Amino acid sequence: MRKENVTVRAFKMYNAYNKRYFPLKLLSTVFDRVSPYFNLWMSAEVVNALYAAAEKSEIYTLVLITLFGNLLIRVLGAVLHRVVELELQRLNDNQNAAFNEKTMSLDYCKLEDPQIRHMRRKITENGWINGYGVSQMRHTAEEIMMTAVELAFCAVLFGEMFALMASEPFRVSVLLLVIGLVVSIGLCAFFMFASAKKVSEYWNEVGDMMLRENRISSGYSIFGMDARIYKQQDLYDEQQYKRNEEHKRVFAKAYRKQFMLDLPNYLFSRGAELFSYLIICAFCGFGVFPVGSVIKYVGHLNRFCSSIGRIFGIASDIKSNEKFLKQYVDYFDIPNDMYQGSLAVEKRSDKQFDVEFKDVSFRYPGADKYALKNVSIKLKVGERLAVVGMNGSGKTTFIKLLCRLYDPTDGEILMNDFNVRKYDYRQYLDLFSVVFQDYSLMGVPLGNNIAGAAAWDTEKAERLIEEVGLGARYAEMPKGLETPLYKNFDKDGVNISGGEAQKIALVRALYRNAPFIILDEPTAALDPIAEAEIYSKFDGIVGDKTAIYISHRLSSCRFCDKIAVFHDGEIIQVGTHDELLSDENGKYYELWSAQAGYYKE
Ligand code: ADP
Repeated sequence: MRKENVTVRAFKMYNAYNKRYFPLKLLSTVFDRVSPYFNLWMSAEVVNALYAAAEKSEIYTLVLITLFGNLLIRVLGAVLHRVVELELQRLNDNQNAAFNEKTMSLDYCKLEDPQIRHMRRKITENGWINGYGVSQMRHTAEEIMMTAVELAFCAVLFGEMFALMASEPFRVSVLLLVIGLVVSIGLCAFFMFASAKKVSEYWNEVGDMMLRENRISSGYSIFGMDARIYKQQDLYDEQQYKRNEEHKRVFAKAYRKQFMLDLPNYLFSRGAELFSYLIICAFCGFGVFPVGSVIKYVGHLNRFCSSIGRIFGIASDIKSNEKFLKQYVDYFDIPNDMYQGSLAVEKRSDKQFDVEFKDVSFRYPGADKYALKNVSIKLKVGERLAVVGMNGSGKTTFIKLLCRLYDPTDGEILMNDFNVRKYDYRQYLDLFSVVFQDYSLMGVPLGNNIAGAAAWDTEKAERLIEEVGLGARYAEMPKGLETPLYKNFDKDGVNISGGEAQKIALVRALYRNAPFIILDEPTAALDPIAEAEIYSKFDGIVGDKTAIYISHRLSSCRFCDKIAVFHDGEIIQVGTHDELLSDENGKYYELWSAQAGYYKE
């Protein structure tokens, strides 16, 4: 099967975001183009009438037609412009929504893949940096419409002009005019096409440079506390200066090349115009048409030449934009490889979901080391499992696999005896409430944050707030659950500490009332007293849910039914706190002894 051209494919996708936009834009373009032709045409009629010493009333009528005609065209044009603007807004909104939807629907491993992340940034940022991509394509489509309308108007007029010029004695001159135009146009085309690829390469280089720059600037801040303490301003300035010099050099090169490549095209198209002026004026001198018509024909010829020039400009723009559009369509073509099951997850009010990891191993895409090796563990409904181990031992990866953010490389994970891959993915995700280490809250009211939705159950939310020990702080919030968090979006918002934020994240997880609750370092930002307070009530708060805790603080895990000790991607010990502590040669004993000193008091 023949592969569809990338520009055609991207345009079809783009047009589908709002099918009304381009037809309305075409209509508006016709209106815009009518105005100059109407004026040229009418001016010629007025001059011809004056030249032929016509009746005053005839001249006045022509002037009135010009004035009212202009008024009508402009008013209708302005209305259409407004409509087109609104449709464009809708087109852009839909396009952004489609892009975000694609991103959200990617397999999680692809979302995290550095190459795909780079691709996504390139697509978004190229639009701002050098204008290439879908916005350039829209611009090109608009230019095509404008040029086509303009050429259609010219064709009507040239028919009239050539009919007058082609009388017997002047045939050779007409031929000369046509040959002159064809040669100039041909030369323009040659230079334009020769330059298109190079121009796009230079602008791609500019795009890559700016992408690098944006990443560097977002990577470090001069406003942080350590920047102040270590006086990093000078270092920052010096590095910024060096990079600015490099930017100037790359930008200047791109502009210089663009200018040099555009110059021949400019010279040839202006030359063609001058040549045609001379010939038309000569025809007028020989009396082939009246003086007024010279304005009309020269004006139209001028517009004709620019339109032809634009066609080559358009063709070269399409060529230069192909590279950028390919990134866009390739992004939408990224396949999802994770198996999407169809088995419905049972809706069980008794939360009877047992999980088993059977000899599971996992390697991150592109990594050569296994993050998990031969992990086997069973988790019964209502159990509390603590996952402990040193940094990088595989604790978070274990959770990511359980939540199907990734599929195991080897082995299988079973839920109620079925491989989790068989379950409907969305329904399966509904089984879990997770507080990740890098959770985030939004600058919207507390109630929205807790419910993760526009509406919330006040009684339930307030009960949970009380249970996690946030009651006192909540009582100070001026608008209760309506209180916006942070001051970024609302001056009435409240600032909250890291510990308070973590408790809110906990309330959000509990509010969802999923059968599994997973807490990745749930108390990292809490002081030891707040932590002890939460844990003393945890059994009650978690209720009949199955809970998994990841924690560095072993003291936090004592109350769990089962503790799994991870080391180097493997589960090396499983048992209760007392069982594990009795093995003085075990890793748990080692970790416990190392930490116990801190907490003796
Ligand atoms: P823990 O939660 O115990 O600190 P992780 O599960 O985060 O450990 O990491 C286990 C191993 O997997 C580590 O060696 C880590 O470097 C690696 N790893 C974690 N995330 C990724 C990733 N997205 N891509 C590649 N390797 C990763």
